[in-house]
Amino acid sequence: MPDSHPRLKLLVATGNLKKLKELQTLLADLPVDLLSLRDVPDVREVEETGLTFEENARLKALGYAAQTGYLTLGEDSGISCDALGGAPGVFSARFAGNGKDDNENNRKMLEMMAGVEDDKRSAHYTAAVVLAEPGREVAAVSGEVHGFITRELRGSGGFGYDPLFYYPPFDKTFGEVSSEMKHSVSHRSRALVRLREALQEYISSRG
Ligand code: IMP
Repeated sequence: MPDSHPRLKLLVATGNLKKLKELQTLLADLPVDLLSLRDVPDVREVEETGLTFEENARLKALGYAAQTGYLTLGEDSGISCDALGGAPGVFSARFAGNGKDDNENNRKMLEMMAGVEDDKRSAHYTAAVVLAEPGREVAAVSGEVHGFITRELRGSGGFGYDPLFYYPPFDKTFGEVSSEMKHSVSHRSRALVRLREALQEYISSRG
């Protein structure tokens, strides 16, 4: 990317500093400065009322872009179990109820999957990312990673459902591997690699 491009401000619609850090690393050589929702304190929270990850990512990208005027990245992610008809899906964060934590969500998943045979325990994580400027969607990308739900918690790394998510190529759960190893294959990094390409095109198209 030539130096002639003026630096671009990109609002990442998250208050999660870990996600911001991950993006910063991935986009380090592009002429973009990242902001988080912590940098725009007066905005109204955009509700995640979509039925798909992409819809929620789009609601956040367009909603915060309209309120702030910034190019905005909206992201939504979660886990879908085939034996549960795709649940918890967009309800991953609140599977066991509003305000419940990772342990309770994991316990509920183990209970609901208790009678499911080994070969039917397939599941995948999805991350959807939408980039928007005020009133206009610029790009929508996503990433997935496929694995199986274990019968007990294994490892304490990662977060959320990671101690239950067995990834065959590693022969380990995401809770048992380093964050570098997880992110070498994760749904979120796969989506972000695609986002990076979309962002490069956007920057070039602005001349
Ligand atoms: P959000 O996109 O940050 O709202 O995350 C949605 C929910 O999906 C999280 O609270 C987790 O329960 C689950 N989830 C999303 N990505 C991951 C992951 O990489 N590991 C474990 N759980 C995840």
